[in-house]
Amino acid sequence: MGNLVDVSNNVEMFLCPNHTGNLRLSRGSCASMWQRARSERYEPYSPIAACYGCSLGAQHAGKSDEKMDRRPGHIDRICTRCHRPSTRFVYGCICVSCYNRGREVLLGKNARGAPPKRLPPMLDVDVAYIDGGITRRVSVGLVSDLMEAKLKMVRKTRQILRFVHAAPQNHVRQMSLFGGNG
Ligand SMILES: [Zn+2]
Repeated sequence: MGNLVDVSNNVEMFLCPNHTGNLRLSRGSCASMWQRARSERYEPYSPIAACYGCSLGAQHAGKSDEKMDRRPGHIDRICTRCHRPSTRFVYGCICVSCYNRGREVLLGKNARGAPPKRLPPMLDVDVAYIDGGITRRVSVGLVSDLMEAKLKMVRKTRQILRFVHAAPQNHVRQMSLFGGNG
């Protein structure tokens, strides 16, 4: 996707990869939106919240080395699996109860030696997110579902993450057979 030149005032415009609706911006307007989003980060709502944490905006504002901290909040005080509030976390993410249930699933037996019943499975889940306009995929291990995988990623990083739909792994593998650039 080439850059576009707005001939009326000779300012180079680019297609913002972060906002929807084919938003075209100059580097200057991108930089000032990024700065504004930074200053509005503690507001309950910002129409340009997508700019906060955008590495392209940081680059245009000459602050690409600056760390993009997300706002700590409720998400840091709940179990990433059962979503119940807790003060003690195993691996910094899950409550002690969920850790113990997960262990029973992995061992294939509960404390009484019987096979565990009605417990969430332990899976490797693919998560896709956008980083600087590029879609990246990671496999998050030992989680019970996609939501837990995402919450775990959010908890483990101070960065803002922008998730996108991840095609099922089989589909991705099949695409690569046909030369898809997945
Ligand atoms: Zn839990």
